[in-house]
Amino acid sequence: MIDGRTPMRTRFAPSPTGPLHFGSVRTALFAWLAARASGGQFVLRIEDTDQERYLEDSEALIMETLLWLGLTWDEGPEVGGSHGPYVQSQRTAIYREHAERLVTGGAAYWCTCSPERLTEMRERQRAASEPTRYDRHCLAIQDEVRRQRDELVPAVLRQRIEPGRTRWDDVVRGEISFDNADIDDQVLLKSDGFPTYHLAVVVDDHLMDITDVIRSDEWIPSTPKHLGLYQAFGWAPPRFAHVPPVLGEDRLKLSKRRGARNVLEYGELGYLAAAIVNAMALLGWSSGTEQELFTPAELVERFSLDRVHDSAAVFDPKRLDSLNGQHIRRLSVEELVEQLEFWLLGTSKETRRRLVPLLQERMVVMRDATSLAAPLLGDAPWDDDVVFPPRKVDGDTAIALLDTACAEVESGGLDDLTAMRERLTALLDSHGVKARDGFRVLYIAILGRAQGVPVFDAMAFIGVEVSVRRLRAARARLEL
Ligand code: GLU
Ligand code: ZN
Repeated sequence: MIDGRTPMRTRFAPSPTGPLHFGSVRTALFAWLAARASGGQFVLRIEDTDQERYLEDSEALIMETLLWLGLTWDEGPEVGGSHGPYVQSQRTAIYREHAERLVTGGAAYWCTCSPERLTEMRERQRAASEPTRYDRHCLAIQDEVRRQRDELVPAVLRQRIEPGRTRWDDVVRGEISFDNADIDDQVLLKSDGFPTYHLAVVVDDHLMDITDVIRSDEWIPSTPKHLGLYQAFGWAPPRFAHVPPVLGEDRLKLSKRRGARNVLEYGELGYLAAAIVNAMALLGWSSGTEQELFTPAELVERFSLDRVHDSAAVFDPKRLDSLNGQHIRRLSVEELVEQLEFWLLGTSKETRRRLVPLLQERMVVMRDATSLAAPLLGDAPWDDDVVFPPRKVDGDTAIALLDTACAEVESGGLDDLTAMRERLTALLDSHGVKARDGFRVLYIAILGRAQGVPVFDAMAFIGVEVSVRRLRAARARLEL
């Protein structure tokens, strides 16, 4: 127990239908944070009972994503646990046994309606402007249905929804209540013997001792059905926290179908896992303070479900960029040296140590290091669209600046950069050119483009010989 909080057992229960996007991982993060913040456990369960939507490799991708973000699970695939198996397709016998219990208790009944009959029924209901739902045709003829099942007519098992109202106190949304008359007699077992989500989720959440079901609010209409099942089984239901969706910049819900980006791709683009976690946490949760930058450990310390808002959150890529830059600046030199290995392939630790002070302030994503450091680690071919001399600098001033810089470096070396900078500023001043404009000449000469790492630091890094060569080459362009 932490600070008197009761340990929660939460779970993330993805269906393996593709890689995870920001919206789905954000739900996982809230469940993980709730468990960690309360000193409880986080369970990973793969909900793969919908064989048609199954996409190979998604399980591996899901686990890779969670591990990259540091959302480790205490029980689940790979790690095991005392409530397994954690993959629903390996639990079909459990669901069937529980389905039988529902039949025996009268909370579920078999239905042999053909797809044609169901389509015709729905069309009739639509024509009469009635809600489309199962008309309980089979409930009235159970003897006949039993006979048909003996003859191996395909049948589904349906939940018998009792009249009345279903209500619960949602941790995020407050009190929610439904008139049971609006709830369809849900299919629990399909004709292939596989459970639907509704049966499997209730049986598993109960058998896995889940105390808090944290999931997307698109499941709110299903919750009354689930509560009906808890009641039919005679089980105490868990608490429910339905979290609002994550919207894209277009204010539409992020979804696989609309091409929401696989979270792992952010890693390939150079976002840090800690920044992603930070940005995701702020999608719907606030600390109640001005603070925006949180490490995962700080989030665990601060998180509580009752600070999750009930309105949709909009994913703002600019905020993620800003947080990523801040997380990069928080890294120690050695951490960044380590992380940069991938982005500055072939460099030694020593080289990266020298580069870190030049790069760290200027990176938004890790990938920036590659382009920022390129002119320091190899040649500095000029950008195709570079204008030289740059705007606001006349040819004479550019020549004077390059000549002076060259002479300074050759005679005095690169040890007193401050003094050199001051003298060059004075020279530009005497030509009536602002330092900011004039130094563009040096940037282009040394880095091949008008901006990048601080140019005097860049010269110090590449050394006297290479600096002089680049200054001369730039000077030669002006004589043509
Ligand atoms: N398998 C469901 C999904 O992927 C889980 C919903 C739930 O958490 O209950 O959305
Ligand atoms: Zn039927």
